[in-house]
Amino acid sequence: MKRALIVIDYTNDFVADSGSLTCGRPAQDLEEYITNLSREFLTQEELVVLGVDVHDTDDPFHPETELFPPHNIRGTEGRRLYGELQDFYEKNQAHPHLLYMDKTRYSAFAGTDLDIKLRERGITDLHLAGVCTDICVLHSAVDAYNLGYSIHIHRNGVASFNDSGHTWALSHFEQALGAEII
Ligand code: ZN
Repeated sequence: MKRALIVIDYTNDFVADSGSLTCGRPAQDLEEYITNLSREFLTQEELVVLGVDVHDTDDPFHPETELFPPHNIRGTEGRRLYGELQDFYEKNQAHPHLLYMDKTRYSAFAGTDLDIKLRERGITDLHLAGVCTDICVLHSAVDAYNLGYSIHIHRNGVASFNDSGHTWALSHFEQALGAEII
């Protein structure tokens, strides 16, 4: 078993009080857990992927333009990683086991080379953390399931602005995707 940690969308827009699509307090409370977990994986020479949403202003072709306020716009403060995770990223940018990955859809697999990067490293087990539990983490987990990965969800590493959606997603991970909830 070889594992990787995928941290989804832990950016100012999704986490900070000033964020345009923020999950607020529940997401801010993950800061230490997510940063420590990322550090632990990297220390053990295990892959850490930072999957980060990117959008262009008023993109007429993107379905999210109609669904959500502008968020994670390329080059903005809102798209920077939140708090300590940004420091962790800056310090370890050149680390061979740290991968920063742009994504344009909910799932970290959609339109990215994430699956190829994981397979070339022989990774079978994915640990997921980040936000939102019931949107981007969920869609990434569903794709991971369909691609045959074993899934591990960190209960203290995920959050949502929608409390009932968060609770539902946790049970879906376990009951429908066979995930381990840690
Ligand atoms: Zn988005």
